[in-house]
Amino acid sequence: MIRRKVLVTGGAGFLGSHLCERLLDDGCDVICVDNFFTGRKENIAHLIDNPYFEMLRHDVTFSLYLEVEEIYNLACPASPVHYQFDPVQTTKTSVHGAINMLGLARRTKAKIFQASTSEVYGDPEIHPQTEDYRGNVNPIGPRACYDEGKRCAETLFFDYHRQHGLNIRVARIFNTYGPRMHPNDGRVVSNFIVQALKGEPITIYGDGSQTRSFCYVDDMVSAFMKLMAAPDAVTGPINLGNPGEFQIRELAEKVIEKTGGGSKLIFRPLPEDDPRQRQPNIAQARDKLGWEPTVPLDEGLDRTIAYFRRLLAD
Ligand code: NAD
Ligand code: UDP
Repeated sequence: MIRRKVLVTGGAGFLGSHLCERLLDDGCDVICVDNFFTGRKENIAHLIDNPYFEMLRHDVTFSLYLEVEEIYNLACPASPVHYQFDPVQTTKTSVHGAINMLGLARRTKAKIFQASTSEVYGDPEIHPQTEDYRGNVNPIGPRACYDEGKRCAETLFFDYHRQHGLNIRVARIFNTYGPRMHPNDGRVVSNFIVQALKGEPITIYGDGSQTRSFCYVDDMVSAFMKLMAAPDAVTGPINLGNPGEFQIRELAEKVIEKTGGGSKLIFRPLPEDDPRQRQPNIAQARDKLGWEPTVPLDEGLDRTIAYFRRLLAD
């Protein structure tokens, strides 16, 4: 059997580790690259003995020379707490990382996927968000290192496509959750579950009326693979996410109910530039990829709670 050689940057992270696993199941030869900033060895420990899996500690802001046929570029911290920890490094990871991976794709003629984000829409005035909406991003705020870094990466992908004929796939990922999120990740789903399981108060930023749409990780990884396998004309950018929209306060109440804990809600100031609302329009994903999410929030939360229960018990 001839195996496709696939590179996954950020492969030891939350989404990357699930993707590596699914690509191995699909018969690929997988090279995982990560600098372990937010990724963890535990996420990929079960893959290390697989002869078709290779792990390389490397920072994508530096050049990389490998022979591959497909590249999934996921390297970048995704949680606001982590991407704001060293904002200059976040922009470098998005921009220099994209340049390095696009250079690698150009040399090896590999197909390349970019993990872009709903953050390119900033605090959106259009609801739900469609791909033709150009966004409302504050270029100098605390989220800009991530938002503008990802926007610039999209620009680079499309310029390499037009200028050098690269085969590109750009996915705009909306909030995704599931097992293997870092317990101190700082994102809302993991924060609320860990707080509830520890019996600590649940921290709601603002009044909790802001909305997000949450997609379970297995659905998201299926979408990545469908986008990579789609005809070459399907470059994206394409929204990937679950259109079910929930207020943050509603999410907190669901988590308390499901964990059976007695946590109270406490309210903290809303972080600067925190988007008020977010919901993907996924008509393009349905039409061009034949994809839509299948795991409802209730079921995904149950699976994620079970994961964190095991993790915290260890
Ligand atoms: P994550 O933080 O768990 O994973 C990111 C991985 O990239 C980590 O393993 C980290 O160590 C690695 N990394 C960071 N900087 C690096 C560098 N310079 N060189 C090499 N590796 C580096 O986050 P995630 O949720 O798995 O996100 C994966 C990708 O998907 C990111 O690009 C993120 O922007 C994008 N995304 C995720 C979501 C989501 O809700 N999970 C939403 C939108 C976009
Ligand atoms: N949030 C919250 N409490 C927390 C963590 C996050 O109320 O402990 C809110 C946050 O202000 C935002 C939403 O939950 O409105 C989603 O935050 P997250 O960091 O998960 O991702 P974002 O979509 O903002 O990038």
